[in-house]
Amino acid sequence: MHPGWESVPGSFDLALLKYIGTLRSENASEVWEEYHPNGTHSWSLDAPIAVDYYPYNRCDVVECIDCQRKYLRYGEYGGYYVDQRIRPLNPKFIMQP
Ligand SMILES: [Zn+2]
Repeated sequence: MHPGWESVPGSFDLALLKYIGTLRSENASEVWEEYHPNGTHSWSLDAPIAVDYYPYNRCDVVECIDCQRKYLRYGEYGGYYVDQRIRPLNPKFIMQP
C-alpha cells in the first residue's frame, strides 16, 4: 500500500469510502503551514501526519467499505477543479510538534 498522498483517479468511486470522522475543527484558525521537521515534503512517503497542520487539518477520516482500511481524505483546490487526495492512516506517521 502506497503510504503517502495520492490523487484519486476520476474513475474511482468515492462512495466506496465511508465517512467516519474528521480532523477539521470548526473554530480553529486557518493554518496553511505544513510540518516537516525531518526534511520531508507533502508527497513524501514518510511525511509526518501532524493533525494541526496542512493538509491534515482539512482531512476527513474515511474507511474503505471493501477492506476496512482507514484513510485520510481532503480536496486540494486547484485552479479549475478539486483534486481529491487520500493517504492511508498509518499511526506510525502521526507526529505532533
Ligand atoms: Zn479497500
